[in-house]
Amino acid sequence: MNQLPIQVLPTWRRAVLKVGSSLLAADGGGLTPRFVTALAAFITASHAAGRQVVLVSSGAVAAGRALLHARAAPGRDLAARQAMAALGQAPMIVLWQSLSARPVAQVLLTHDDLRNRRRYLNARATLQGLLALGALPVVNENDTVAVDELKLGDNDNLAAIVAALVDADLLLIASDVDALYSADPRRDPAATPIARVEAMSPAVLAMAGGSGSAVGTGGMRTKLEAAEKAGAAGIPTVLFNGRDADAVQVLTEGRLRGTLVCAPHGRMQARKYWLLHAPTASGRIRVDGGAARALSRGHASLLPGGIIAADGEFQRGDLVEIVDIDEHRIARGLSQYAAAEVRRLVGRHSREIESLLGYSYGAEVVHRDDLANLPDHLLPGIA
Ligand code: GLU
Repeated sequence: MNQLPIQVLPTWRRAVLKVGSSLLAADGGGLTPRFVTALAAFITASHAAGRQVVLVSSGAVAAGRALLHARAAPGRDLAARQAMAALGQAPMIVLWQSLSARPVAQVLLTHDDLRNRRRYLNARATLQGLLALGALPVVNENDTVAVDELKLGDNDNLAAIVAALVDADLLLIASDVDALYSADPRRDPAATPIARVEAMSPAVLAMAGGSGSAVGTGGMRTKLEAAEKAGAAGIPTVLFNGRDADAVQVLTEGRLRGTLVCAPHGRMQARKYWLLHAPTASGRIRVDGGAARALSRGHASLLPGGIIAADGEFQRGDLVEIVDIDEHRIARGLSQYAAAEVRRLVGRHSREIESLLGYSYGAEVVHRDDLANLPDHLLPGIA
């Protein structure tokens, strides 16, 4: 009996779909298309409807283990686990390619890549480039190089970070359970499925209990943590059963049978909030009157031509303050260029960037999507 109602899926144009090991390497065996064929059909239908999908796929370790006929328990010996991930990663990608009409691109990330601002921006640019090319990026944690303290540990959390990274509208988590339940359904027959979570709370997290399947690393708890992370970035999360062909089919029709975890704020609001409140690097960028006015009006990017100076030190991807000639703080934003690079670009035209530096990260020093105006600042003459 399925007590879950069918509900409307939030509208989306770009989504991250996370597929767990229990769907790729079912019943502890090697890789099988059995469950992921329907998910691949969902991706194909989404592409046909003009949508973009980034896949976060597990299953490398499970596939590697099956190849070796190894029966070792998951996660016991890190080096063995890393070897299995290395063995299983390529077959996992091959499986997705065999089910996808679009070219599949392998993207392996570590926690370090996402913590380091420069690499974070590079990963974002690569993923956006792949989507623009019409490819299907398949992301996994780079298990072969990540040791414990560098690991994200589970692909649920990785998927939430990737959703924020690519500015997705929705995070879809496919696993072998139908939904979040009020208690562990394997132990408590009175457990009921929860169709909608308005906001994450300790009470909701308590419903999750421990880890679920034998092959993956995550349980319901990591899924809720992921939903919380995505929610903080303004992205709603849905949890559904990827083994249930009907639950996958209704997604294609813009409906959901599973759990919807709402995001407390809109995406823009969440992003601006982060830009306004996250710690900045010690350096800052000084701009002329024209650039200051353009930035204060909103919707403008900061181009090299409007820059007078870069003070102090910052790296590509650092959050910096932007000040006017009178040192009034106007805005905060992520700089695409390091302080030393900005100093070489001062007052120049964007088309000169490549010849001045020998490379270019784009025409903008700070892109308008990465800018937030300081609310208390009003320039004279600006309504
Ligand atoms: N990265 C691991 C793998 O591909 C899975 C981690 C997880 O399932 O959360 O096997």
